[in-house]
Amino acid sequence: MDMDAYFASVELLGREELHGKPVIVGGDPGFRSVVTSCTYEARKYGVHAGMPMTRALNLVPHAVILSGSFARYKTYSNRVFEVLLSFTPRMHPTSIDEAFMDLTGTPGSITDKALEIQSAVYEATSLWCTVGCGPNRLLAKMASNFYKPRGTGLLMPDDIVDLPVGAIWGIGPATSDKFKMFGIDTIGKLRSLTRGTMKSILGSGGEDIYRYARGIDDRPVEFFGHRTAPKSMGHEHTFSSDVSKPEEYMPALAMVCQKTGCRVRDGGWLGGVVTLKYRLRNMKRITRRKILASPTDQDQTILAAAEEMARQHIKEPIRLIGVNASHFVPSKTAQLSFFPERTVELNKVADKVRKRYGDKAMVSGRSLKYIQGKY
Ligand SMILES: [Mg+2]
Repeated sequence: MDMDAYFASVELLGREELHGKPVIVGGDPGFRSVVTSCTYEARKYGVHAGMPMTRALNLVPHAVILSGSFARYKTYSNRVFEVLLSFTPRMHPTSIDEAFMDLTGTPGSITDKALEIQSAVYEATSLWCTVGCGPNRLLAKMASNFYKPRGTGLLMPDDIVDLPVGAIWGIGPATSDKFKMFGIDTIGKLRSLTRGTMKSILGSGGEDIYRYARGIDDRPVEFFGHRTAPKSMGHEHTFSSDVSKPEEYMPALAMVCQKTGCRVRDGGWLGGVVTLKYRLRNMKRITRRKILASPTDQDQTILAAAEEMARQHIKEPIRLIGVNASHFVPSKTAQLSFFPERTVELNKVADKVRKRYGDKAMVSGRSLKYIQGKY
């Protein structure tokens, strides 16, 4: 499901006088702003999202310019996603106006279902969307582009052979130009290339495109509320002059661990690996990592691991120190421990204090010298 000219359409709600006019949503043309969205009336003149505002105004001098109201876009977007959830819990929003739905096993015709979804969204919001269907995410996404605007429809692997190479989700203008040099302009012709040729043209990404050209895509639709864990979270501190003794770097290390712990808790994760990083006088960057006995979101546990590594490895002056937590699991689904870390309650209170009065309102004794600005 992809909303049609989303921001511009939300702006038009309740403003009958603007219907049928070229409307552009974007920043002040005096600055180097770009078009964020525009109505199909403006698109007829060649305006598109991402275009510099000044250029858009050259194309359509009489266009109506609106500056955009993000809070309203969010409100309507939530309403749309509520509607989609009433069709299936296996719904995954991928942007403010776009979501995948896995309707595997739904009785009846998928294209009838698409029409139903489209009218339910219109009922709830007076906004139009396009619902593209396919046996997987790739073809559904391509169908939503193909049938846009106000469309619904299905694309199967054999339906895409006459489409241009650039219709493949993930192939940008640069890549499609590359294929044009080889005389390949349609997906059908793309299929004539072997895996090996594809890889020699595109490198490691060639494997994916080889499969996408055939309409093959096995990425699942992740359910609503599913969150992809970040790769890592961390902080670092650059010293005003190089330091080498623990009493000199520990206050800063305690502080970066506090900030890291706060962020990890805030995100609802537990990190299984702590990485210490530091930079030597000659700018050489060194990292050391430690796998924890059990994943944590506690500053004190992160600090203990980081301190152990620091004392063991830092033997010469450093100019920067930092820490990273990684290998996350969601804290809610983590196994309940019979021996919860004893700092859990303390940190909960500290987080509340810091949210209200700032990062430095409550710190451990170890970072006192840091906030006093000594290091
Ligand atoms: Mg859209």
